[in-house]
Amino acid sequence: MTGRAIDMAIVGGGLAGGLAALAVHRAHPALEIALFESGDVYGGNHRWSWFDSDLAPAGEDLLAAFPQTRWDVGYDVRFPGLERTLASTYRSLASRDFDATLRRLLPQAALRLNSPVAEVAADSVQLATGEKVRAQIVVDCRDALPTPHLRGGWQLFLGRHLRLSSPHGITRPIVMDAQVEQHDAYRFVYTLPLGTDELFVEDTYYADSPVLDRESLSRRIDRYCAANGWSGETVGEETGVLPVITGGDFAAQRQSLATPGVVAIGARGGFTHPLTSYTVPFAVDNALTLARHAASPAQKLSARFERRAHDHWRDTAFYRHLGRMLFLGGEPEERYRIFAHFYRLPEPLVERFYAGRSTLPDKGRILIGKPPIPIPAAIRALLGKGAPLVHEGRP
Ligand SMILES: Cc1cc2nc3c(=O)[nH]c(=O)nc-3n(C[C@H](O)[C@H](O)[C@H](O)COP(=O)(O)OP(=O)(O)OC[C@H]3O[C@@H](n4cnc5c(N)ncnc54)[C@H](O)[C@@H]3O)c2cc1C
Repeated sequence: MTGRAIDMAIVGGGLAGGLAALAVHRAHPALEIALFESGDVYGGNHRWSWFDSDLAPAGEDLLAAFPQTRWDVGYDVRFPGLERTLASTYRSLASRDFDATLRRLLPQAALRLNSPVAEVAADSVQLATGEKVRAQIVVDCRDALPTPHLRGGWQLFLGRHLRLSSPHGITRPIVMDAQVEQHDAYRFVYTLPLGTDELFVEDTYYADSPVLDRESLSRRIDRYCAANGWSGETVGEETGVLPVITGGDFAAQRQSLATPGVVAIGARGGFTHPLTSYTVPFAVDNALTLARHAASPAQKLSARFERRAHDHWRDTAFYRHLGRMLFLGGEPEERYRIFAHFYRLPEPLVERFYAGRSTLPDKGRILIGKPPIPIPAAIRALLGKGAPLVHEGRP
């Protein structure tokens, strides 16, 4: 056990933990912090994207520390019978840039890579090596786990970073191209033009099962690229199996994961968008809140974030209802209609939806009008429960 306690131990150097460490260090450079990550890089192998409209100026400022790709020319969506360009600025950050920036901006002593933590407590963390580090505040940002307490479906994807043999001519992101075959799920392809001859192409599914069939997704990306005349070398791939939460017992979920006096943020703390599974806006907001209250006693800080998590659960109920309509309200190959209906609505409503800030009138407009699924099916879906968010094998 080290004698003197450090000020803050952050466990899990993914998106939430890395942003928290940076926000706290920027606001309080004199605090002694440590960012414990079990892997040998911060952020794993991800590409995180977000809309400018997801963030307040302080959040934009925090993310501005990281090199990122930015598209000021809007983005496209495509559905059977609908093609639309929306104006929002879109941004994307690769985890290798996240990692390099944290290594550059955090104090050397804060960087604790290859440091799996075996146990967290309100006043210390115990590493797998047996080393115990005392800390005034402990923040748990380990990754989310499958759970029997929450219910829903899954968002599965395989993303491929390609360097093409010739320019692709794509000028803006295609955030959803659902004009593709709908194989038993809501399926779309997501394309980011990262450079004149560089593309990130991702095949995504909203499916009932969490089993990611990498071979099939890979072949579908091959076919999508071939159909668009894109060929070249693969320079990276990433996969995701993310829970789409449609209901459950959040209090039981928190109880199963919470350690008294430990601050819980990140996806594991419940800070996700239930329907898109995105976390960027919430991770940024939590990082800034943690920095603002870094001088609070641990118990008080942990209780503050526990309340935030429950408020977040309450405030995102609408997205869970929509998720139930997506998974339970129609045949899998008809699920695209829910998103197609949504994308006909005014852009400010779309922006608030992604940021998790839909207003009451927004919710009415999303649900009212020509229903994308039959009304009896919608009612059945709203009353339905969905399946537990558990699975044995993770990719
Ligand atoms: C491939 C992919 C792409 C995504 N794209 C987007 C996107 O574009 N936009 C968006 O908003 N969301 C996206 N998401 C969803 C979500 O934002 C991410 O999953 C995000 O990384 C969640 O952040 P987190 O910090 O909660 O968890 P993670 O980023 O998973 O971080 C948890 C970290 O804790 C570490 N850890 C676990 N156990 C221990 C331990 N015992 N000791 C030490 N360290 C430990 C892990 O190694 C990991 O680095 C994506 C998810 C995936 C998988």
